[in-house]
Amino acid sequence: MDIEQEIRQLRQELEAANYEYYMLDAPTMSDYDFDHKLRRLEELEATHPELITPDSPTQRVGGAAAKGFEEMTHLVPLESLQDVFSFDELREFDQRVRESVEDLAYDVEPKVDGLSVALEYENGLFVRGGTRGDGRIGEDVTQNLRTIRTIPLRIPKALPRLIVRGEVYMPKAVFHKLNEERELRGQSLFANPRNAAAGALRQLDPKIVAERHLDIQVFNIQYAEGKTFQTHLETLEYLESQHFRVIPHTSCATIDSCTREIQAIGDGREQFDFDIDGAVVKVNSLADREVLGSTAKFPRWAAAYKYPPEQKPSKVVDIVVQVGRTGVLTPKAVVDPVRLAGTTVTNATLHNQDFIAEKDVRIGDTVLVQKAGEIIPEIVSVLREKRPEGTMPYQFPDHCPVCGAPVVRDEDGAAIRCTGAECPAQLLRHLVHFASRDAMDIEGLGPAVVENLVGAELVRTPGDLYSLQAVDVAKLDRMGKKSAKNLLDAIERSKEKDLSCLLTAFGIRQVGQKAAQVLARQFGSMDALAAATVEELSAVSDIGAITAESITAWFADPQSRHLIEVLRAAGVNMESRVAPVGDQLAGLTFVLTGELSGFTRKGAGERIQALGGKVSGSVSAKTSYVIAGEAAGSKLRKAQELNIPILDESGFVALLEQGVPAKSDNS
Ligand code: AMP
Repeated sequence: MDIEQEIRQLRQELEAANYEYYMLDAPTMSDYDFDHKLRRLEELEATHPELITPDSPTQRVGGAAAKGFEEMTHLVPLESLQDVFSFDELREFDQRVRESVEDLAYDVEPKVDGLSVALEYENGLFVRGGTRGDGRIGEDVTQNLRTIRTIPLRIPKALPRLIVRGEVYMPKAVFHKLNEERELRGQSLFANPRNAAAGALRQLDPKIVAERHLDIQVFNIQYAEGKTFQTHLETLEYLESQHFRVIPHTSCATIDSCTREIQAIGDGREQFDFDIDGAVVKVNSLADREVLGSTAKFPRWAAAYKYPPEQKPSKVVDIVVQVGRTGVLTPKAVVDPVRLAGTTVTNATLHNQDFIAEKDVRIGDTVLVQKAGEIIPEIVSVLREKRPEGTMPYQFPDHCPVCGAPVVRDEDGAAIRCTGAECPAQLLRHLVHFASRDAMDIEGLGPAVVENLVGAELVRTPGDLYSLQAVDVAKLDRMGKKSAKNLLDAIERSKEKDLSCLLTAFGIRQVGQKAAQVLARQFGSMDALAAATVEELSAVSDIGAITAESITAWFADPQSRHLIEVLRAAGVNMESRVAPVGDQLAGLTFVLTGELSGFTRKGAGERIQALGGKVSGSVSAKTSYVIAGEAAGSKLRKAQELNIPILDESGFVALLEQGVPAKSDNS
């Protein structure tokens, strides 16, 4: 067989296997064979790049990251849908339709809550795909769409031109997993699968898009050259035959059977792997659609029914507080079970302390619970008239319910967080952060390995990392002797990291990498920092009062002291290795005023601190020197009044280079 032939055959086999796997859910090729054949195809294409075609399975994640997206003009606009919010409104829609056409049948489909796209095929080949944009012009995201395995790159029976429309979405299971991983990495979470899918589809690097495992439901033919259809149903059947993943659909002869179907879709929404934000009722006959036409915004032959969020009363039997992996305490109400939107609800989120206080939710209250779409059930209101005697306003805990450490409120929000250094509820996040590059930089200790270590109960605190045994680690899933050894070597190397890295690794509130570096340089050792008072800490430039409080609170917690002792015993470095603090300026306090030409204000402060001096913001009798640059103002006057020595920039430079001048004899 010549190379061209082999390539063709591999492509056919791989695409067929892909279709069986993703669309039919009935794989006949083993993963091993698939990977093997794909590798062979990649090798052949690498040596014969002239034989690469855009429909090759290797091209699903091919191509480099884009700089931006080109515009894409839609030949047939991607229209919007008219909304109806009740079955009465739906019947009015039906009457309007019947004024123009008779003998109709409808088709009812779930309305997928994702992103609308158009896919263009020329002579059977997928050539272009774009987002809806304003309906006429969208963005060309062809490369990203190629990564979706359920989009055929070539269809079995070529038409000169075919444009189909569908909704791209992120499957619910993928969404939950993605958010879990993001939480572990300390990244912000996606609010819902729709936002996550939108974020993914606009990624410039197709490799990242591929990792997001997007999917599509196709629901319309926008344009077909060389083929005619009588009904919507026919088009859907045709699309199915051309290997598209087609939206679930039901034919309904009357509007009453439409309402029953809509009800059934709503009740069964949990079974879909996509979120829905309604159900769409469409006239089936394409000739009828022609007659009905469109308004400026939407077709007159379709309506989108929006499900009302279902609400029911239930009793709050308890309020429990959970500690999330980022340490945030989240309260939820445990309620008597109620059926809502197809599921039995036993919990409702209470968001945070402020929410409880504002609604005055109490244990024993009867509340109205609501579930809108896939969103977590929430409490709409308290039915005050049903409040029993003797209830008390809810007191939010001031200690972590899991580890007992004090909790602090975020400076810039309503979140309340646990400060425990060894809090088991936050362990995964702690460990991932501890090992991250800016912290202890333990290569190979990512979220998956951390989950494994914690799952096997080998690690309960960051300190446990340093007593791990290679034999135990090697037994973990996907580990083996070699990776276990590499991991232990990386942990061993981390013992030598600078104090600033260890401080970063602790994840003390308000103390990021930058503050950790300042603290390490200023105090030089863990013990000196642990002994520092709020006043001493606040005197350091860049360390504000809140940070200072947070640091002393952290060191005061027994969990933190325990962690430090375990790390010390393991031989982890507790000294600063950056520029050691000199002591030429120890005991002296400086005030900076005016502009220096050779330093920024911050840079000058850092130089003073590096030599052991302190920088203060205001002049007092305790000030040792005022450094006055150009256009110095009131601080200079105050220094003169108080007789504080004043240095200009050259005096300051001399001081940095030579230390404090010796006092002259006659002073
Ligand atoms: P709207 O944007 O609310 O006017 O609703 C129209 C959107 O619903 C379009 O962007 C479609 O992509 C989307 N949609 C989701 N599922 C369907 C469906 N089964 N039929 C038609 N449109 C749908």
